[in-house]
Amino acid sequence: MKCNLCEKEIAKYNTIFNHLIIDDNHSINICLDCSDKFIKWQGKICSIIFPTKAMKKMYEKK
Ligand SMILES: [Zn+2]
Repeated sequence: MKCNLCEKEIAKYNTIFNHLIIDDNHSINICLDCSDKFIKWQGKICSIIFPTKAMKKMYEKK
């Protein structure tokens, strides 16, 4: 199973962690590397939108 974002083979494919369902017709496979980047990206956006101390701490930890 390949990651739809970086196109690398997903080593330990697990539908819980690696399968993102968008809707009935769309779903993607995503490796942990890419989902980690997504989380960091979303965290960065949240820290910009909600520049609270708590959010900044959460983002700085990673
Ligand atoms: Zn990937």
